[in-house]
Amino acid sequence: MTKRVAVIGAGVVGLAAAWALERRGITCLVFEQGAPGGAQSGGESRIFRHAHNDPRQFELAVRSRQGWREWEAEFGLDLISPDGSMVIGEAAVARLGKYDGEPGVRIRELGPAQLREVLPILAPYDGPALIDDAAGAIHTRLTIASLITSVGLNLVPERIESVRPRPEGGVEVVSTFGDRVFDSVVVAAGAGTADLAATAGLKVPSQPQAHMRLTLPLAGGIKAPRLACLQDSSGFFGEAAAYGSPVQGNREYAVGLALSTPVDLAADADPLSGLADRTADYVAEAMPGLDRGGAVSFQRWVTELPWAADGLAIWQRGEAFFIAGHNLFKLAPALGSALADCVENGEVGRHFRPEDKLGEAVLEAR
Ligand SMILES: Cc1cc2nc3c(=O)[nH]c(=O)nc-3n(C[C@H](O)[C@H](O)[C@H](O)COP(=O)(O)OP(=O)(O)OC[C@H]3O[C@@H](n4cnc5c(N)ncnc54)[C@H](O)[C@@H]3O)c2cc1C
Repeated sequence: MTKRVAVIGAGVVGLAAAWALERRGITCLVFEQGAPGGAQSGGESRIFRHAHNDPRQFELAVRSRQGWREWEAEFGLDLISPDGSMVIGEAAVARLGKYDGEPGVRIRELGPAQLREVLPILAPYDGPALIDDAAGAIHTRLTIASLITSVGLNLVPERIESVRPRPEGGVEVVSTFGDRVFDSVVVAAGAGTADLAATAGLKVPSQPQAHMRLTLPLAGGIKAPRLACLQDSSGFFGEAAAYGSPVQGNREYAVGLALSTPVDLAADADPLSGLADRTADYVAEAMPGLDRGGAVSFQRWVTELPWAADGLAIWQRGEAFFIAGHNLFKLAPALGSALADCVENGEVGRHFRPEDKLGEAVLEAR
């Protein structure tokens, strides 16, 4: 018997789950309250990187990279740019260096001259630097558009109010248009996941985090056949957690800061404007190759789990599965597959249960 499955949320994770289910012969309805791909998955460009603190997540990234190649082959598009991803700063270099020699990953040291070659917009820097050549910038809009096309008419524009597993089996899904019962439900609703989990009696401890980035054109005259993504934990340019990724065929570059502590909404009336100023200061220090006059800002609230910035997990109640975490775009193909496994097997797989705290482990634990 074919299972009746609902996916709630048409961000990259819900769409990836729907794609994986369809490939296994399981048709699903995808419920979305707004524009598909318009929430945390919105905007242009995300970094694909292998570097993670948790070796289990590194392995997930390797599997995901393979998944990106499968999507590229199916959609006939390049979804990850060949620019690579560079890390600077001792901690990040030590972390990425541990993965050198792992299958599918090529890590190289960069001297100052090579550094200028891979990221010509960066100010002079002569500290430790490594590049992961199989990483790069994800073409987010192409990815979302391709996944939407593949999910096609199964996309339902409805807001879901509650998800309740029934004692007699199946899961009741209530929307403003009425009630339906499915054999299995995947909730990948981003900022809406914790509220929907609460309707099923589950506590998902995701916290809102402010995320702001500036996208700037390259300064006149700079040609950049290659613009590597950047993770800067060096503090050399005044910030200990900055990142960058190319957009628009390397004509623009997006720069953002990752905050280490959640924003206190009660205490901080306008957390995003302070973040915008810090990002602009960082660009002024670190990126003389960008035209600051052309900066455009992009703001979103993201959802982080308390144990790590890259933390993620899947909660289960009956046949309903709820995924939460941050920095999920790069892992979307592997997460889609993990969620399809949940539906097929009726349980959350190894490493993904909340008690596994995926993202928390440090490399030394390997
Ligand atoms: C500026 C920025 C930079 C980032 N950089 C990176 C990066 O470099 N690399 C990386 O991997 N990740 C990055 N991330 C994080 C990544 O983009 C997100 O983790 C990912 O897009 C989350 O996808 P999602 O499908 O889980 O959530 P979303 O994209 O938020 O999708 C959830 C969907 O569910 C819908 N929904 C919610 N509630 C309901 C409801 N009740 N009924 C129906 N629909 C509902 C929403 O409308 C939304 O469309 C970044 C995020 C931002 C904002």
